[in-house]
Amino acid sequence: MSKLHNFSAGPSILPQEALEASIEGIRNFAGTGLSVLEVSHRGKEFVAVVEETQATIKELLGVPEGYEILFLGGGASLQFLMVAYNFLESKGAYLKTGVWAANAVKEAKLLGAVDVVGSSEDKNYTYIPKGYSIPADSDYFHCTSNNTIYGTQMQSFPDSPVTMICDMSSDILSRKIDVSKFGMIYAGAQKNMGPAGVTVVIIRKDILGKVSRQIPSMLNYQVHIDKETMFNTPPVFPIFAMLQNLKWVKKVGGVEEMQRRAKARAEMLYTEIDSNPLFKGTVEVEDRSQMNVCFLLNDTSLEEKFNNAWKAAGISGIKGHRSVGGYRASLYNALPLESVEALVNVMRTFNV
Ligand SMILES: *Cc1c(COP(=O)(O)O)cnc(C)c1O
Repeated sequence: MSKLHNFSAGPSILPQEALEASIEGIRNFAGTGLSVLEVSHRGKEFVAVVEETQATIKELLGVPEGYEILFLGGGASLQFLMVAYNFLESKGAYLKTGVWAANAVKEAKLLGAVDVVGSSEDKNYTYIPKGYSIPADSDYFHCTSNNTIYGTQMQSFPDSPVTMICDMSSDILSRKIDVSKFGMIYAGAQKNMGPAGVTVVIIRKDILGKVSRQIPSMLNYQVHIDKETMFNTPPVFPIFAMLQNLKWVKKVGGVEEMQRRAKARAEMLYTEIDSNPLFKGTVEVEDRSQMNVCFLLNDTSLEEKFNNAWKAAGISGIKGHRSVGGYRASLYNALPLESVEALVNVMRTFNV
């Protein structure tokens, strides 16, 4: 399998042993003699996979009583619409910290009023707005914990007077969070949890059933809860592969260890960016993300030479998003510190 240093922003790196276990499941699933790709999702072996995945997420994140865990299709992007369908009655409060947050606003506007309580669009989303207030008469407050494209991260969450809903697609499982502060958390798995194709929704049941509109079945959280996340065929293989990753997270020390590793990786790279005169960071220092590190070459005429240097070092996936330019190194859970060392080494020895 790949020996490259994989800094892909998503779909992104998975632990080698999760990949191996996923391959084994394709060959022979749970000793059934059949592939996980060719058995019923309602068979006892796969139902056990779903239950173990739910239980492992609850354990890793410390999910309190009263929450359900769903595995849905449609990506995090479908959640932008589902949130509004299920919770927007008079108005939704949104923190606009990037393109993904803006997409959430756009979808919500299809169904009702949106109050953008804070935005960093004025500076191409290079900071997290502070000092905003969340109107107590909003139905909910929606935020994005980590802005994958720009490399900003909410270092803390507000004490919201209304139900807080968070898109944690790109930093879930990388740091400890107090789940009880949130009515709902969702994450497309492909950044930090598993392969593309499944979205994890962690939802407190008592926030449901409060809107007057008719909700189409597939968009209705209650329908998915009532059917134990099997209203329709769930994304069977992405769930299975995600479980292999969750088992790895648990084995190596859980979210606490992921947090320690994330800090070590990010510190190593930011230290180099800040001390190397050839490079500069792109966002406010206090809002820097530990997951996605964006940086630029001060002299853009060196780009081609730098690109050749990191490619020669076996580094993959650090080209910045087209809306930011420069470079973006995504340091997700499964990325070994040695990969960051390899990148830092290229930066340190470049053009000297
Ligand atoms: C990638 C990403 C999305 C979009 O996810 P899809 O699963 O492709 O719909 C949404 N929010 C954040 C924060 C992301 O990083």
